[in-house]
Amino acid sequence: MIEIIADLHIHTIASGHGADTIRTVCEFACKKNLKAIAITDHGPGFPGGAGITYFMSLQRLANNIIFPLKIITGIEDDIKNRKGDLTISDDILKGLEIVMTGCHPFTWIAKQSKRVRTDAVVNAITNGRIKVFTHPVGTYIDIELKPVLDAVISAGAALELNTSKIDKTDVIMDLLEKCGTNNIPIVVNSDAHTADEVGSFDEARRLLDETGFPEHLVVNRSKESIKSFFDIVWK
Ligand SMILES: [Zn+2]
Ligand SMILES: [Zn+2]
Repeated sequence: MIEIIADLHIHTIASGHGADTIRTVCEFACKKNLKAIAITDHGPGFPGGAGITYFMSLQRLANNIIFPLKIITGIEDDIKNRKGDLTISDDILKGLEIVMTGCHPFTWIAKQSKRVRTDAVVNAITNGRIKVFTHPVGTYIDIELKPVLDAVISAGAALELNTSKIDKTDVIMDLLEKCGTNNIPIVVNSDAHTADEVGSFDEARRLLDETGFPEHLVVNRSKESIKSFFDIVWK
């Protein structure tokens, strides 16, 4: 089975609806022997999401909370217009190591038509603003997958295998097949909203096995692949 050494999509109390702190998340991640976690709270585009000052402080928090794992700074921000701009400005995003977006209820994108929504996601990927498009399938806020796959391929981005939305097995298997065929990297993430969910990868690993998914396309399989894909410093 493919090893997943890091959980790169985790929410904390800063998201407004996460249950635990960064410290508690670290404790649970260490118990599961993860080598790294990414703290990726929602931004202000999602009601209850964290504000600008939290993301400005996140690197300092990550530097000062000491556990035997790497704490990666990140965000799962929301798109605010058809051009694919995010709700947090670029100068603050630049200070974060992993920038992702996804489609969430009660946000700008949820209120758009499928056409506009797809354009917005494609533009966010094409303009290089995000590196991972989270939960691309399996949610009720759907998009056209084909243009998004094309954008991901040309931008060198990745799609997420989100283990909190893995129950629609046929949809997930279809996604894995498309990614495998088109050489699209995936990131396997828990999207944890409680510390207990961090690193819950068993079902995802089973599906990867079942589909014969190419191991080299799983970004969080090793420290080296995470470092090179996200261009982050990790000693
Ligand atoms: Zn999300
Ligand atoms: Zn999330």
